[in-house]
Amino acid sequence: MDFTLSEEQLMIQQAARDFAQNELLPGVIERDDAQRFPTEEVKKMGDLGFLGMMVDPKYGGSGLDTMSYVIAMEELSKVDASSSVVVSVNNSLVCWGLETFGNEAQKEKYLTPLATGEMIGAFCLSEPEAGSDATSQKTTAIDKGDHYVLNGTKNWITNGNSAGVHLVIAQTDVEKGHKGINALIVEKGTPGFEIGPKENKLGIRGSDTHSLLFNDVKVPKENRIGEDGFGFKFAMKTLAGGRIGIAAQALGIAAGAYELARKYAKERKAFGTEIANHQAIAFKLADMHTQIAAARHLVYKAAWDKDQGNNYDLSGAMAKLYASQVAMETTVEAVQVHGGNGFVKDYHVERLMRDAKITQIYEGTSEIQKIVISRSILHN
Ligand SMILES: Cc1cc2nc3c(=O)[nH]c(=O)nc-3n(C[C@H](O)[C@H](O)[C@H](O)COP(=O)(O)OP(=O)(O)OC[C@H]3O[C@@H](n4cnc5c(N)ncnc54)[C@H](O)[C@@H]3O)c2cc1C
Repeated sequence: MDFTLSEEQLMIQQAARDFAQNELLPGVIERDDAQRFPTEEVKKMGDLGFLGMMVDPKYGGSGLDTMSYVIAMEELSKVDASSSVVVSVNNSLVCWGLETFGNEAQKEKYLTPLATGEMIGAFCLSEPEAGSDATSQKTTAIDKGDHYVLNGTKNWITNGNSAGVHLVIAQTDVEKGHKGINALIVEKGTPGFEIGPKENKLGIRGSDTHSLLFNDVKVPKENRIGEDGFGFKFAMKTLAGGRIGIAAQALGIAAGAYELARKYAKERKAFGTEIANHQAIAFKLADMHTQIAAARHLVYKAAWDKDQGNNYDLSGAMAKLYASQVAMETTVEAVQVHGGNGFVKDYHVERLMRDAKITQIYEGTSEIQKIVISRSILHN
């Protein structure tokens, strides 16, 4: 394994870093305060190719590898996790799911506008009574011959209101359990499809998280992804890759907080010297730096596994579990290094601390990652 970044990967890293500093940073505090979705910023990210990074250029994507994607995710997340989650969901859940399992007609109709950022997508699995236990789907997609009739509620959907296309997981045949679940492409505006109110959140407040309500929504059969009953497998396989994106997001949040803490520690004086000269502060920075480097290696290893065609269930789960823990610990310590200034919004670290928490919850909580990891090491 050689994790030296190629010329192309270094250029992508620089482009994402510049975009984060020049375009995301200026309005990030205001968007967080107002819970405002980064509409303009997402459009620009689409123009730069960040929304379909791994998609084949014949469908309007950038044709890059997973390594390039995690590198970009880290840089964007250092500054604005509300924007980077749009990149993550669109790339690793929606575009990857469609490109890998969709048919040619679905790719032509939906993948191209999603990869270019003409519209963004949402991935709709969670329900009021089906979060970690995703097999307990209550949303139904009843087979009516040439179409399905969709009824039920989805919870916590990222890009809930902004997405033009929703990949919705629903139960067709209860008798068959998880083998009776389907994944359907549902367009915004389809009659009977309502978007619930926006959630008022602790972190990633710029991201629009909504519940979705389906009331006798007619979905054409051609919008089913894969064979009848493939929906649960579709969701699990897609989430396995999604976790690598969220691990990279957690890594970026941690690295962003560390960079701010390091800078502040070299400027702020107490007891006649820069606080970095107090060993208690210097050691915090040493711990952060070490843990971030370890998290980065896990994230790169998971991305490398995916690029090599290896199984990445274990490496992806380990990367997400560890990077999200590092994000939480690093951001708490970054606030501490900033003292009272860490507690106010202008210094950014309190927002990064609030944003870090979600990386331990979505796309499988830390406890669920431990189930994936322990099953893999005990039963393989
Ligand atoms: C901001 C935000 C955005 C989200 N975006 C999306 C999205 O775009 N699409 C989507 O489908 N979902 C999304 N989610 C939902 C998210 O994936 C779920 O919240 C998550 O999977 C946990 O499910 P839950 O909230 O129902 O918690 P529960 O499953 O009720 O879990 C509660 C607690 O119990 C623990 N627990 C549960 N089962 C076990 C077990 N077997 N062993 C040990 N511990 C266990 C959990 O780890 C957790 O600590 C989002 C959530 C949030 C908050």
